[in-house]
Amino acid sequence: MAKKKVLNVAIDGPGGAGKSTVAKAAAKELGLIYVDTGALYRAVGVNALRNKIDSKDAKAVKKMLKDTLVELKHKDGVQHVFLNGEDVSDEIRTPDASMAASNVSAIQCVRDFLFDTQRDIAKNNSCIMDGRDIATVVLPDAQVKIFLTASAEVRAQRRFLELQQKGSKDSYKKVLKELKERDYNDSHREIAPLKPAEDSIIVDTSEMKLEESISTVVNLIKEKM
Ligand code: C5P
Repeated sequence: MAKKKVLNVAIDGPGGAGKSTVAKAAAKELGLIYVDTGALYRAVGVNALRNKIDSKDAKAVKKMLKDTLVELKHKDGVQHVFLNGEDVSDEIRTPDASMAASNVSAIQCVRDFLFDTQRDIAKNNSCIMDGRDIATVVLPDAQVKIFLTASAEVRAQRRFLELQQKGSKDSYKKVLKELKERDYNDSHREIAPLKPAEDSIIVDTSEMKLEESISTVVNLIKEKM
């Protein structure tokens, strides 16, 4: 039987650039599966928090992985992430989980641990996968590679409003500080640092409304479909 041809779209970029909102909407419009790879790192981070393991301690995290199972499942087109069989899709969204995710993601064995999960989904499904190293490491052969970004201030403002809606009392200043810290961690780590691939298309959404960001991405994908 002829092999099914899948379309893989890689969207990378810093936190708060709107990757997940844009990728989710574009995937829906184009009938593709949306895969948020940050959720995988967040689940590992949550496991470290739950077990009171220092998320920067590579040795301890490596040991923890022996008893860690992280799975992604799609229900009615919505991604859920499971940690050892438990749906942790809400728990992974706290600021503590963000920081723990950023810390564990700098550890090579964590990246290796999550690599196959990401590759297998992309091999079998036409999808839009968002993350930090999708175009550079996970799917270097993706047909479309987009690097979605925006200024740190714009991203912090978006994140701040999002957290406020969830009832958070964190100030804009705190959100901006944490976002810059995470940017620094993600782009300065030795392994799979956040950066565009040579053939990534850079989309800066600082001055764009959400609809414009979505249509820009949809049009870039349509050109390859
Ligand atoms: O995208 P999100 O903010 O949910 O990702 C959480 C953290 O996981 C990021 O700060 C980043 O350090 C890490 N990550 C990564 N590689 C990916 C996706 C996320 O290192 N492909």
